Amino acid sequence: MRTPFVAGNWKMNKTVAEARELVAGMGPALKQVQGVDKVLCPPFVALLAVANLVSGTEIGLGAQNMHWEEKGAFTGEVAPGMLKEFCQYVILGHSERRTYFGETDETVNKKVLAAQKQGLTPIVCVGETLAQYESGQTAQIVRRQVLEGLKGLDLAFAAQIVVAYEPVWAIGTGKASSAENAEMVHRDVVRAALTDLFGEAAAQSIRILYGGSVTAVNAAEFFSQPDIDGALVGGASLKPAEFLAICQAAAQ
Ligand code: PEP
Repeated sequence: MRTPFVAGNWKMNKTVAEARELVAGMGPALKQVQGVDKVLCPPFVALLAVANLVSGTEIGLGAQNMHWEEKGAFTGEVAPGMLKEFCQYVILGHSERRTYFGETDETVNKKVLAAQKQGLTPIVCVGETLAQYESGQTAQIVRRQVLEGLKGLDLAFAAQIVVAYEPVWAIGTGKASSAENAEMVHRDVVRAALTDLFGEAAAQSIRILYGGSVTAVNAAEFFSQPDIDGALVGGASLKPAEFLAICQAAAQ
């Protein structure tokens, strides 16, 4: 029922020239992968170049962050309407933004509501730190992030958002969660909280991605879990063969 979804978060990597090279390398094969929503999320300055390269294909484009205001005196920020010119998606609340740039559930919620207003689909990231995981607080933390981050959305829009469960201890560490642990959080915490917020029907239609050291080797195991609907991929999204293999695994 839920179309698998794979997004590549390039983070602060790739100049415009390098972004063009990366898309040229994997674009043709990526276009052939059917039955999966594939999304590239380059840095802001490469969005236009990548938009031109994927235009007319089924490859989607996303930004990695945005401000919640429509315009004004916010030096260095990018507004939702500016992204809407190029993108269909925007990653919000990534743990690196929460950790290094002081994002909170409250600011994530403002951004999610701004994305709704602009018709951008947010990929909303949630996940516990290592200390929280080790002290058994995963369910409590992730539930709060979902409830607070997504409150106030219209039901019709809520059904089309994407949530990414990314345990912070698994991001960029090479130490992925087990597929069973991720499935348990997706089902019992994230989808349960989405059901409380939006009801059963909407919660069942929302894609929940796993993120954290996903590779071509472990992707299929994650995708075999019933509540894991795809992946948010960091490091491996910069390697064309690897990202392609992850998308192919999602298609199966
Ligand atoms: C991410 O940045 O969202 C991520 C999951 O990174 P990585 O795949 O490198 O762990």
